[in-house]
Amino acid sequence: MPMTVKALRKTGPDAPFEVAEIERRDPRPTDVVIDIKAAGICHSDIHTIRNEWGEAHFPLTVGHEIAGVVEAVGDEVTHYAVGDRVGVGCLVNSCGHCEECEAGFENNCLNGAVGTYDAEDVDGTITQGGYSQKIVVDERFVCRIPDALDFDVAAPLLCAGITTYSPLATWGVGEGSKVAVLGLGGLGHLGVQIAAAKGAEVTVLSRSRKKEQLAMDLGATEMLSTEEDGFFADNRGRFDLILNTISADIPVDKYLGLLKPRGVMAVVGLPPDAQSLRFGSIIGGRKVLTGSNIGGLPETQEMLDFCAEHGIGAQIEKISVDEVDDAYERVVAGEVYFRAVIDTSTFEDAAMA
Ligand code: NAP
Ligand code: ZN
Repeated sequence: MPMTVKALRKTGPDAPFEVAEIERRDPRPTDVVIDIKAAGICHSDIHTIRNEWGEAHFPLTVGHEIAGVVEAVGDEVTHYAVGDRVGVGCLVNSCGHCEECEAGFENNCLNGAVGTYDAEDVDGTITQGGYSQKIVVDERFVCRIPDALDFDVAAPLLCAGITTYSPLATWGVGEGSKVAVLGLGGLGHLGVQIAAAKGAEVTVLSRSRKKEQLAMDLGATEMLSTEEDGFFADNRGRFDLILNTISADIPVDKYLGLLKPRGVMAVVGLPPDAQSLRFGSIIGGRKVLTGSNIGGLPETQEMLDFCAEHGIGAQIEKISVDEVDDAYERVVAGEVYFRAVIDTSTFEDAAMA
């Protein structure tokens, strides 16, 4: 018999969240059962459940920033034991044998990686995410959370952390790099900390200077408002890399003008609509416009260890299960500094729909 656990779900894009019981499969031999302690709210959850990226499969539980404790393991599990501190990010399955999976890039699985929620799993079921009391996951998609990181500050690392760490590592950001982090939200605030820990000089580009002191506290050397007169002209050709975390439409060409020759814009923000680009913006100066999607499992573990070593965690607002609708509004309004994280112990007393 599959177990039932409490979860937050929505029955449609406009319905409020409700607490309901959902089923988790019986653990297979290579599965671990995780007692979830904290679940981060990523803007991707919001895009998904509001149908901004296409029709989601309702009723749906989202959440792919999951931290908790191993509660049970299948007979063939080799890497984890009951009591281990673990995390799960955006992936719960992949083919495991294509060249991308074999190279540790399960995020690029040539046969289709399975997302943690709203994806069709190999058994035909639709995956249900981490706003929940427990999850059952194949051990290949589980990472170890170092003791130095509390569950609630670690949870957001499983998506926002790896999504910013991976392009910064891929493009060799380090001592002397001039990095601009575009957008200071959940992803951006981790990007600032990671780039600074790698030795880069970090400038935050935000819609206003409202969060200036917070940006400095995260390790930035400067914050600029993209809305101020002369911003694009005054900052032309300054940066080696722009980490673009914006969740909405942006004037891509203008931002490319901020790069040095051969500079890189790594796009991780995924606004619902297509963005326009003039090729002249990358041809001039031989610039690179590239994207990045989360990261593979080995790099996710590397990122967690890096964050623990450098004292990096998410700055969070802890919320209860009945505050998630409100948190979504505040994330979209840019009022959460910087990640809302659901305290899953509040499921216990939550009334069911
Ligand atoms: P978030 O916390 O809401 O942060 C997004 C930031 O974008 C905001 O803090 C804001 O920065 C800026 N922004 C929002 N609306 C804007 C507007 N209308 N104009 C200009 N700037 C605006 O979101 P997040 O969780 O960091 O996610 C950011 C994006 O990355 C989302 O689209 C998400 O789906 C995507 N994502 C992608 C991956 C991947 O693998 N590539 C992984 C996770 C998330 P300021 O307030 O500083 O201006
Ligand atoms: Zn995410």
